[in-house]
Amino acid sequence: MIALSLAEIAEVVGGQTHDIPDPSVQVTGPVVRDSREAVPGSLFVAFVGERVDGHDFAEQVVRAGAVAVLAARPVGVPAIVVDDVQRALGALARRVVTDLGATLVGLTGSAGKTSTKDLIAQVLQRKAPTVYTPGSLNNEIGLPLTALTATEETRFLVLEMGARGIGHIRYLTELTPPRIGLVLNVGSAHIGEFGGREQIAQAKGELVEALPPAEEGGTAVLNADDPLVRAMASRTKAKVVLFGESDEADVRAENVRLTDSGQPAFRLHTPSGASDVTMRLYGEHHVSNALAAAAVAHELGMSAEEIATALSEADSLSRWRMEVTERPDGVTIVNDAYNANPESMKAALRALVAMGRGRRTWAVLGKMAELGDEALAEHDAVGRLAVRLNVSKLVAVGGIEASWLQLGAYNEGSWGEESVHVSDAQAAVDLLRSELRPGDVVLVKASRSVGLEGVAQALLETG
Ligand code: ATP
Ligand code: MG
Repeated sequence: MIALSLAEIAEVVGGQTHDIPDPSVQVTGPVVRDSREAVPGSLFVAFVGERVDGHDFAEQVVRAGAVAVLAARPVGVPAIVVDDVQRALGALARRVVTDLGATLVGLTGSAGKTSTKDLIAQVLQRKAPTVYTPGSLNNEIGLPLTALTATEETRFLVLEMGARGIGHIRYLTELTPPRIGLVLNVGSAHIGEFGGREQIAQAKGELVEALPPAEEGGTAVLNADDPLVRAMASRTKAKVVLFGESDEADVRAENVRLTDSGQPAFRLHTPSGASDVTMRLYGEHHVSNALAAAAVAHELGMSAEEIATALSEADSLSRWRMEVTERPDGVTIVNDAYNANPESMKAALRALVAMGRGRRTWAVLGKMAELGDEALAEHDAVGRLAVRLNVSKLVAVGGIEASWLQLGAYNEGSWGEESVHVSDAQAAVDLLRSELRPGDVVLVKASRSVGLEGVAQALLETG
């Protein structure tokens, strides 16, 4: 991070210094919330969690070299004491990003935030030093911690912003105000908590409302193919840039196809030219993510060629998202167990079928969480799609939602033997161990809470 003295930090966060012999001592970073990550120069942020109280680790982190603790009470070692540690952390992040002079890119959406953030980072990195959210640390704690890892060299800061309700994104944009704001899609992720798609759109759109006006460089990058996202154009004073397959999009894909290995290829059109992309990532849903990344990169001055090369060479940086591994016996495991929603389930099934052309394909699927009243219909639809796409076998794992998947397959194609319902991950592993043959392709996917990555891992270990 940018070095700041304890006195400066206390002023920024409106805190009291306690047990600090020399307030001119500087925090050189990193700012950490996990006591095990404290190193010389660190600032340790003491959060009170459900099981552990960060304040109990104050002495330990100082022994490890931390300069001070950002705390809610005096702890007997150098501390800056505030009323609300989380707000203080946010205030510190805001001050640091304001000083940086880097361009902030914020992105949100129902599905594909992390995948797209990883693409944007890999593209922008080719132009200038870029800091980005590690994994999915996209909430009111992860976001400021990420922002605080930026240094004087950082030119681009790419931040994933998650929303679980109205007002969340607005709060995040106050901590780290983006100049470029990207909204990917409004799907049904967390629809149960939000109460409906319109409410999700309301919440995600807070990102574009927070952007500076066009004259000050504010740019809203919106998905032209998603009506609820497109409509957000009326909620911003920023310049609007559209991406998508629609003809109206400023950044478009033409001749979109999946290669035989299931990887998307297309011709990228930007206002400054066109160039061909063949991705390393799997699944057509990455076309939309790639166009979003291209639109951001174009706004930041990159050429179509530069962008296309970067997109073609980009890897998956985050785990369990369409992670394709071939076992020595020729069975291919596609681990997409990180998470699932109706859109990503469908995209993953299509990728499975593309990469499994001429081979037996298995969809090992568990529930999609947080769908509220739409749960039955959405699971039914995924079961039906598996039939229509000619997936060879459906293994539905878990409770009632799994039975809806199976029922969908039954109703669509009278699937009997082609679909199996097993109660848990272990049962799925047992079944697959005895049934898999060389050449089979297996997709493993469900919501995070199901934890199906264990199935993929077990299948890889026994290969
Ligand atoms: P989270 O809210 O958990 O942080 P996220 O929005 O960051 O999720 P990713 O982690 O990128 O999303 O992807 C989650 C799942 O959605 C993955 O299974 C991935 O295959 C799928 N996915 C990625 N991009 C899209 C997209 N554009 N449309 C639909 N599904 C997608
Ligand atoms: Mg994420």
